[in-house]
Amino acid sequence: MWYNTTICYKSKAKIKPIGCYKPICLPIRHRLLSWGLINSAECCLCSFDTETRDHFLLLCDFSSQVWRMVFLKLYLCQPLFCTWAELFSWTRQSSPTVPSLLRKVVAHLVVYNLWRKRNNVLHNSHRVSFSVVFRLIDGELRNVISSRRHMKRWRELTVFWIR
Ligand SMILES: [Zn+2]
Repeated sequence: MWYNTTICYKSKAKIKPIGCYKPICLPIRHRLLSWGLINSAECCLCSFDTETRDHFLLLCDFSSQVWRMVFLKLYLCQPLFCTWAELFSWTRQSSPTVPSLLRKVVAHLVVYNLWRKRNNVLHNSHRVSFSVVFRLIDGELRNVISSRRHMKRWRELTVFWIR
C-alpha cells in the first residue's frame, strides 16, 4: 500500500502529503492473486518470494541492493528497512547530514523507480541491474535538486547528495 504523495514545487518547496490517510492500493501481485486475476504472486524481481508491498519495495534482494547504494551515497550506516512503518519513520527523521526533505525525496524516487522497474520486467521483459536503477535515481535526484537550487532548503541538499 502506497500513499498518495506529491512534491510541492511551489512556494516553500515541501514534500506535501495529499490525503495521507487515504491509502492507494497498488496492484501488487499478492493482491492481484487474491482477486483471482493472476495465477502466481511470485516476485518478478527475484522469483523467490511472494510479491507483497514490503517484499517488493524493501525486502527483495534487488530492492535491498538499491537501498544499500542509497545509504552508501548518504554515508548512512544503518540497517535496511524491514517494514513500511520503518521507511515512513525514517523519512520523518532529520539529521545534520541527511535532512528530512532529502529523505522524503529519496524515498519517493526509490519507490517510483522500483515500481517502474517492476512494470518494465512484467510488461516488457526488460531487465536492468540494481546499479542502473540507482543511477536513474541519482540522476533524477540531481535534476530535482539542481532545478530548485535557488531555494535555500534545496540548495543545502546539494552538499549532501551532489557534493
Ligand atoms: Zn523479490
